[in-house]
Amino acid sequence: MKKVLFLLCLILLLDGKSVQAKVISNEKIDPAKVETASKIISDLQREMPNFTKTGSGPFVAAIYDNKGNLVVKVANSVVNEHNSNNHAEMNAIKAAEQKLGTYDLAPYNLSLYVTAEPCMMCIGGIMWSGIKAVYYSVPSKDVEEITGFDEGFKPHWFKEFKKRGIVVYGNIEPEIGKQELHRYVKDGKEVYKPSR
Ligand SMILES: [Zn+2]
Repeated sequence: MKKVLFLLCLILLLDGKSVQAKVISNEKIDPAKVETASKIISDLQREMPNFTKTGSGPFVAAIYDNKGNLVVKVANSVVNEHNSNNHAEMNAIKAAEQKLGTYDLAPYNLSLYVTAEPCMMCIGGIMWSGIKAVYYSVPSKDVEEITGFDEGFKPHWFKEFKKRGIVVYGNIEPEIGKQELHRYVKDGKEVYKPSR
């Protein structure tokens, strides 16, 4: 019996470690931050279908303050609002800045949570917004493989964000996110990008 219990503990421990190891960051991983981000991102992923129904999506972003209060939650709206810049992260930043009446979010100590890794444009948008931390789910290479979206090129962005005091955590709860992206493609929704 003791042996069985020991093996069970070992399996649970190893399993826990493998889950933890999947998350990547530009700081020493803080399990409390991962736990909060997992909860918020799972909720965003569950809400994806509600947004895609209205012509938005498949990406959803939310901004929270450091006390856990929601500031804004939005999806991308490139197709339905005819704007190639309307990615979920850009929409979230614009909505938060309008709501708070500022172009500089830094004094508010805000975190951005998003269902996929920010693209090249959104990395720029985040950098100039004053957002303090970014938590994302599905990595760009998986988004590109599943959907065909072009995520751009992003050399050393974890390091560059660290230099500017912006924390990044990635690959948080990617499985549901990937499923939703598969569903988006299967449903024949638009994978928007310029014709080349
Ligand atoms: Zn983007």
